[in-house]
Amino acid sequence: MSLTKEERFEKMKEIRDELLVFKKSPLYEYRLKNKYFPVVGEGSHMASIMFIGEAPGQNEAETARPFCGRSGKLLDEMLASINLDRKDVYVTNVVKDRPPENRDPTGDEIELYAPFLVRQIDIIQPKVIATLGRFSMDYIMNLQTLGVKNTQTPSVGKSISNMHGREFVAKASYGKVTIVPLYHPAVALYNGSNKATLLEDFQVLKKYT
Ligand code: URA
Repeated sequence: MSLTKEERFEKMKEIRDELLVFKKSPLYEYRLKNKYFPVVGEGSHMASIMFIGEAPGQNEAETARPFCGRSGKLLDEMLASINLDRKDVYVTNVVKDRPPENRDPTGDEIELYAPFLVRQIDIIQPKVIATLGRFSMDYIMNLQTLGVKNTQTPSVGKSISNMHGREFVAKASYGKVTIVPLYHPAVALYNGSNKATLLEDFQVLKKYT
């Protein structure tokens, strides 16, 4: 069932309110100590394309905005290459609080925060989920409720170098959704050939705009 703009806004607000007091997270104390914010997500609640990164970095935790540092600039550049702006898509992360020293999120942290992400997918109801980096790719490709694993087992469990830029059809609670694994923009920051690959992979998203 499709939700109105107002319903989506309210449901996102509920998620934000829950995250603000998410004391069961091992990242909660660290957030308070540093006066950081949880990063819920940003963009259009009516978006067709949803981007999912890993976890907020320092800039993001200080501003409550996803991908607002150097990786974010590159993400904007990639979006512009297919004539999209941030406000046309929805951008979020699997983990909503910053892990200390930008370390990788742990499996436990991913499991703990993932239900928020699953709710966000059901709110936005995107046609395409573009994962950014291996953590979000692994989580989404193995999410039982999307059934990617059951329908396309041979492709699951492979590394991002095999998966990037490909389309995987899955079934969400609201209907069909296509998963497109992409490299994390950070890998393209210092490497021209990775940037070219990412630019090429973004072309796959064009038909959904
Ligand atoms: N890297 C991510 O995965 N997410 C952000 O929001 C910023 C950097």
